[in-house]
Amino acid sequence: MRYLLSEDQMPTAWYNVGPALPEPLQPQLHPATREPVGPDDLAPLFPMALIAQEVSADPWIDIPGEVLDILRLWRPTPLVRAERLERALGTTARIYYKDESVSPAGSHKPNTAVPQAFYNKMEGSKRLATETGAGQWGSALAFACRQYDLECKVYMVRASYDQKPYRRILMEAWGGEVVPSPVDDPESPGSLGLAISDAVRDAVTREDTHYALGSVLNHVLLHQTVIGLEAKEQLALAGEARPDVVIGSCGGGSNLGGIALPFVSDADVRLVAVEPSSCPTLTEGTFEYDFGDAAGMTPLMPMYTLGHAFVPPSIHAGGLRYHGDSPIISSLVKTGRMEAVAYPQGKTFEAAVQFANTEGKIPAPETGHAIRAVIDEALAAKEAGEERVILFNYSGHGFLDLSAYDDYLHGRLIDA
Ligand SMILES: *Cc1c(COP(=O)(O)O)cnc(C)c1O
Repeated sequence: MRYLLSEDQMPTAWYNVGPALPEPLQPQLHPATREPVGPDDLAPLFPMALIAQEVSADPWIDIPGEVLDILRLWRPTPLVRAERLERALGTTARIYYKDESVSPAGSHKPNTAVPQAFYNKMEGSKRLATETGAGQWGSALAFACRQYDLECKVYMVRASYDQKPYRRILMEAWGGEVVPSPVDDPESPGSLGLAISDAVRDAVTREDTHYALGSVLNHVLLHQTVIGLEAKEQLALAGEARPDVVIGSCGGGSNLGGIALPFVSDADVRLVAVEPSSCPTLTEGTFEYDFGDAAGMTPLMPMYTLGHAFVPPSIHAGGLRYHGDSPIISSLVKTGRMEAVAYPQGKTFEAAVQFANTEGKIPAPETGHAIRAVIDEALAAKEAGEERVILFNYSGHGFLDLSAYDDYLHGRLIDA
């Protein structure tokens, strides 16, 4: 039931969906002039290699050997058939999950943290600044910076900093320096948008420092395509010609993009984004240019957004609390190539617990969103009497989110 690739079967190039998108992406705009941003505008924040990847028209981009060496610490990741879940649902569907929880930080995020740290090192940065919500991205970047001897400064949303110490401890164990955000207002619980502003301010005011973003941007989704590329090979090992539907939770769009983008060109494969109904960017937001942060310091991006001032309620899936969405995912939804659904968090924990009780693994609350949609898809297939091949991204484990399960199991979960 587990489909494994050997280390030398790891993809050696990332798949760039840009040229295959139904519509070309609109350019990012300078926050002050509203003109398309050029490489010089972005140079204070990112190394040139990543700026080039952001706008590349090449369908494939080689993964540097030094990056492959580190990804091999946990890749290729397993593809697993969730047969016990299928049986419990009595479904005619076949459910496969790509297990990204096996990385050092416990999620898909190191897939991009490692190449981002690498290119910064190559171009002479000494230090990276970033933001983190519950700490998934911060811990992935702290791990990656350690591999290349870079300093890592993490602005952590204050509410999480105060209430969820374990990922802060992970970051510190990997040598990162963590401070609560917003730095200039100790009374504020903070938000991802505010923390991005803090990290960007740090990077633009220090010569030795660049900024790193864990989702949303084109180069981040690019780095995550190793997930879908491996899954394609593994589905073939399982005897499946193709999935009928590919599902991922969607905060900024990176784990979903990672598993779904390699299937965009196959029109027979449905693609589904799953988001929280308390932060319904794709299902209820508007498609327009908006800032990536709360203070309006980042470039304007063409995306579905709830407005950069939107502060989502504090649900447990911290990684899904973002006002905007990746321009690539937004474009796929806008053109109808991708579907989007939203669920309240109670329904996602119900699904996560059903998964834990059949497959054994405890998913991250973000991953629970994907599992909710998978279960509903499998039940719909049963209803229709169809064999349906469902592929989803198991984006991370929930071992550091047990207080959320505690709330759910003891009736304290706010069902927003
Ligand atoms: C960060 C995170 C997400 C959401 O971010 P995306 O960029 O949309 O993938 C989902 N699952 C886990 C486990 C995460 O850590």
